Amino acid sequence: MIFRIIAYGDPVLKKVCEEVPENYKNLQELIDNMYETMYNANGVGLAAPQIGELLRLFIIDSGALDEEREDLEPIKKVFINPIILKRKGKDFAYNEGCLSIPDVREDIIRPPAILVEYYDEKGELIEEAFDGVNARIIQHECDHLDGRLFTDYITPLQKQMLKKQLRDISKGWVKVDYPMRFPVSKRKRA
Ligand code: ZN
Repeated sequence: MIFRIIAYGDPVLKKVCEEVPENYKNLQELIDNMYETMYNANGVGLAAPQIGELLRLFIIDSGALDEEREDLEPIKKVFINPIILKRKGKDFAYNEGCLSIPDVREDIIRPPAILVEYYDEKGELIEEAFDGVNARIIQHECDHLDGRLFTDYITPLQKQMLKKQLRDISKGWVKVDYPMRFPVSKRKRA
């Protein structure tokens, strides 16, 4: 099942998510549907709050990234209740995008390497190091679980320049080729 992806401006995206309980029913179904939703939108990562589930869970498939990079070892993984234990290295800028913020990309500065603790879909606790693009996607998705978007990192000037575009997205005045849910009903532009 393909979910609607919640657009920028919806307060749901600003909420801090709850841990996925141990006995959470339909976990596999939720994960399968999230993959379907992410692939349909040509994304490489999707966090549960982006489909309206306020749970600490996200999926990644960096193999779906249509760029060849030396620092990319593709991963396809589910992260449940993840915690970034360590961040390492010299911060660098990378052009980020988000399925909730269509057609907006900005250079965001983050550290290049992380150590993450998370549960996989079988309930196994894993501690794993990531770097390069994978570390970047994981940090972006982890932020979603705490109600943070990459637009929270941009400078006031960048934000000012994006103001209209972000407003248009929050009003549904944007053309996207995947199903989205906008905070206010779609209206004709005055
Ligand atoms: Zn995102």
